[in-house]
Order: sequence, then structure tokens, then C-alpha cells
Amino acid sequence: MIIVPLGVASATPTAVRHLPSVALWREGDVHLFDCGENAQMRMLQAGLKRSKIENIFISHFDMDHYSGLLGLISTLQLQRRDKTLTIVGPKGIKDYVEWNVKFAKIELNFPIEFVEVEEGFELQRVIDTDDYYVEARPLNHTSFCMGFRFQEKDKPGKVDADKAHTLGITDDEQFKALKAGEDLTLESGTLVKSYDIVGHPRPGDSFAYISDTKYCPNSVKLAMNTNILYHEATFSDSLADKAAETGHSTSSDAARVANEAQTKLLVIGHFSARYTNPFVLLREARAKFFPAWLATELRPIYTNPSQEKGIVKPKIQIQEMDEKQGMKTQKRHKPEKGGSKKFRSRKGGPSDRRPRRDDSGERRKRRPEQRQGNDYNNQGSSRPTKHITPRTPFDNFDRF
Ligand SMILES: [Zn+2]
Repeated sequence: MIIVPLGVASATPTAVRHLPSVALWREGDVHLFDCGENAQMRMLQAGLKRSKIENIFISHFDMDHYSGLLGLISTLQLQRRDKTLTIVGPKGIKDYVEWNVKFAKIELNFPIEFVEVEEGFELQRVIDTDDYYVEARPLNHTSFCMGFRFQEKDKPGKVDADKAHTLGITDDEQFKALKAGEDLTLESGTLVKSYDIVGHPRPGDSFAYISDTKYCPNSVKLAMNTNILYHEATFSDSLADKAAETGHSTSSDAARVANEAQTKLLVIGHFSARYTNPFVLLREARAKFFPAWLATELRPIYTNPSQEKGIVKPKIQIQEMDEKQGMKTQKRHKPEKGGSKKFRSRKGGPSDRRPRRDDSGERRKRRPEQRQGNDYNNQGSSRPTKHITPRTPFDNFDRF
């Protein structure tokens, strides 16, 4: 399961943050949680195919959370999609989509299945398939809003192939039956118990999406023991009053939910536009829960990095970050032994801005470890920590 934040702003987009949307990639399919304006373009830039969208979950009817829905539907129509699209949302979502499609005089060439959730529910399984299910619970916002939990069903345990062969099991059908939990009687009359050959079922991965809410017990229930919890952190603790008034969470609220739910990883997003650099929010969240990360648009988050790295490759953000990193690398360049130790401005003088060149006059390539070092969410970096004052949203927050 790979989570890709597509928009991490709250109600107003900024120059570097887009309206709320988070994509979940699983086994080649994409599931969208909220669909703010630009979500479909951010998908392209994230390296996610729009044709692969299976389900769209709309948490509530604040416009920033669904303003990208019609544009996306229009694109799917132009792409000649023919498979069913499922849209889950509060009651009214069906009317909204159908009215607009009719208004545009479009005859959709793919069916849309709507799952409408009415106010007053406590828990609803909105999607249920053989491999996964999605549950919704109401949150505590100024208007009706729900959170979601995407849960993979348990996977069958691993088959002990050596043991099976020793017992004389070679047929695929026999393996299938054993995996399904059935016992087998072989031709020799030997009874083979499923649990002798098949290991314990492996628990499926889980993801919770909690956006636009004050702290509430339902967030904890949705996030209980999840691999990844995406929680809104619109304000810092100093604006707790504002958060309460507008039905939002502070970074400490997000950390509280993560703590109570014992999630494995907290990712905070939905940042107020006032935070040009949301490191303050990360610092507050990390003081109360670890590991906590900032959601960074287009940067994939893996539940199983060893198997999932490289599947979803962002197309533009990495480039932007490399450029920034290029400048930072130059600033951090230490004078060589015996070199002068003259004062370096923290902002970098004109000489710092010149690209470093080797003897052949070509711009020097960065070493792989330097690339990795810029990943502020990367806990395994060997780069020594150093305290600096953040200046841009691309600064390395891990040093705080
Ligand atoms: Zn919002």
C-alpha cells in the first residue's frame, strides 16, 4: 500500500500547496480520499494513472474537499473509461454529480456507483471486496464530515513447500485447498491438516484518513493500530482556540489520536495557509508522538518500503527539490583542509550560488547519499544533524 499526498493545504491553496486530496495505491488500483481542485493534475505529476481510480471518498461538503471531482469525471469520460467508478460521500453527492453531468449535456460512458452516507450513523462499511474493505465513521467538524479506514483483509499464511513435497503434495489444486483452510486426504490415506502446512494468516495493511475534525473518539477508533494515519493538523497549539472554533485539529490533537490509536506512523497534513513552513506543526506533533511526518505533496509513503519503492515515481517534485538541494549542498560545502576559514553568510554570498565545477568544467554530480540526505522524513539518513533556521518549505525539517 502506497500513500501519496496530492494536496496538503486546507481551505486556501498556496503557491506550493494544493487543495486536500490523498491517493492510496494498492495492487495497481488507486483510491482517492477527497478530491480538491487540481487533484487530477497532481495525480499525473505523482505518476499515478487516473484510469486506475477505483473509488473516490469524499469526507464532507466543504468545497475544497470535492472541487476537483467534476473535472476528474470529465477527464475519465474523455479517456473513454468504461469500468465502474464508485463515489462514496455524504448524502447529496449523487444529486450533485448527476445534476452537473446533465447540465453539461454529457452522456457518461462509464457507470458511477454512489454510496451515500446519511448523518446520524455510527459506523458504516462503505466498500467491501474480497481483498479489502473501507469503513466510515462520523467526525466532529462544523458540518457533517466523516473519516475513513481502508483495511486490507488478512492474507493467507505462507505454505511450507518443503514439508508439502515431503508429504507428496504437488498438485496446485491441493495447495489452493490447503491455503483456503481445508484439510486433505491423500491417495495414500494420509490426512494432511491445513495448519500443518500453512502458516499463520498475515494481517493486512491499514490506512486511516481523518480530515476536518476536532479531536474525537471516532478518529481513534478509525485509526486503531493502523500502519499509516493521515490526520489533519490545520493549526499549531498556539491557535487551539481558532481550531476549536472552526472544527479543526492542532498538531497536538493529531498526535493525541496517534497515541491513543497506537498507529505505526502519523502523517499530518491540511495545513493552514498561514504556515509558509509547517515545521512548527511537525515539531509539536513529534513532541507527543513518534514517528510523525509532514505530508509532502507527491512524496510516496510506503507500508512496505522494501517491496514498494519505485512503483510510484513522482514526475516533478523531485526535480524541484533537486534544484533546491543543489543550492543547499553548495552552502554546506566545507572548506578543504588547509583552506581559508573565512566567514560564510548563512544566506550564502554570491560565490555560494555559483555551481561547483570539477576540473573538466562540468557541473559536479551530487553523490547518492546527498540526495538521500534531503529526505527529511528519512530516519535512516547518516547525515549528522545540524540546527539551522528554516527558510523555505523545502528545508530539511529533520534537523529540528
Ligand atoms: Zn478542509
